[in-house]
Formats: sequence, C-alpha cells, structure tokens
Amino acid sequence: MCGIFGVHTHHKAVSTIIQGWKALEYRGYDSSGLAVLQKADIVTRRAEGKIENLEVLLEQQPISGVIGIGHTRWATHGTPTTDNAHPHRFKDVVVVHNGIIENHHILKQQLIERGHHFTSQTDSEVIPHMIQQYLDLGYSQTDAIAATLEQLEGSYAVGILIRQTPNTIYAARNASPLAIGESEDGLLLASDALALSSFTQKVYYPDENQ
Ligand code: GLU
Repeated sequence: MCGIFGVHTHHKAVSTIIQGWKALEYRGYDSSGLAVLQKADIVTRRAEGKIENLEVLLEQQPISGVIGIGHTRWATHGTPTTDNAHPHRFKDVVVVHNGIIENHHILKQQLIERGHHFTSQTDSEVIPHMIQQYLDLGYSQTDAIAATLEQLEGSYAVGILIRQTPNTIYAARNASPLAIGESEDGLLLASDALALSSFTQKVYYPDENQ
C-alpha cells in the first residue's frame, strides 16, 4: 500500500502535494518523493523515511511548478532506500505507482536483454522503461501507456508525467484505488478521496482498467 497524489492546478504543486500527503501518510512512510514539470524538464526529489525528511531536502534544494505527482511508499519490492523511492524515471517518463507488478521479473529481464539499465530494486521501475520503449518506437503517448499497462499483471494505480507534454498528468488504475478531484483551480488525483477533501468535494472514481 502506498499513497499517490497528483496536482494540475494554478497553485504551487509542491506545497499542494505535501498538504495532500498529510492525509495519506498512513499508507506508507518508507520514503516519499515528488516530481514537477519545470520549464522544459521534469525535476524530482526523493527521500528515505517520513515526509519530514523530504521537506528538509526541499528546503535545501527547492523546486516549483504547477503540475506534479508525488508518492509515499510502503515497500513491497526493494528495501526502503532513496534509490527505491518513487517517482521512478527513465529518460522522458516519470511514474508513481501504487500496487504490485506480479510479472515484473520477466518484464525486467526482457528490457535488460534490450540494453536497459535499472537503478532500483522495485517492481515499479519497469513501467517508465516500457512506456519510453514504446515512445521510441513511435507510439503516441496514450498508446505507449496503454501498450505498457496491457502487459502488467497485478495491481496498479499510476500517475505519469512525460517531459514533452507539459500540461498533462496521465493516470490509470487496475485493482488499486484512485480518486480524481475537480476543484475550481484544476484537477487533483489521490489514492484516497480523504486526501482531496481539503481541496474539493467533487470527486470521481475511475473504473477498473480506466
Ligand atoms: N511495489 C511498489 C514498490 O515497492 C509500490 C509499493 C506500494 O504500492 O506500496 O515500490
């Protein structure tokens, strides 16, 4: 179990994610991390342990943006280290994941045989690698994400940023919870509607495989 949170509003993404997380921390405290779209790139900050550790890091190395995704981790695959903290990135694709990819061993092996190098022990890291692989083959972003998710066995709720598309958070779920909130300022997503309650009461629950 872990908590994902995403924000696409006119407000500062980092402080909004941290505010939302406070209601999600029960879902995991092995590490936390976030990514925001900043100008032409995506920047990430990750820290082992409680959210307070990430807040200290953000004071030392501040980032800002209006679109971002964040994750508090409850480790299922890989120790609770910074390297295993989400978001996981490969080239232009950044992903937060709640769930378990049961067939990650075989997917990882296939990618390693194609020359991919992994920096974490998590099951989740295959997701950005697979999406990027399809993008490199010329798939559209939505097709690359769909082609990846179709191959995943297990459970997932994901938030995805792609560097070339600065105004979009992609989100999807299968057997993991996900709530989308619509406020006057924009859209939010979270593993638990509780985390959206201080922003909006207008909450929508995506269907399985949506
Ligand atoms: N399986 C992923 C990991 O270990 C996500 C964990 C979770 O959903 O709590 O990083």
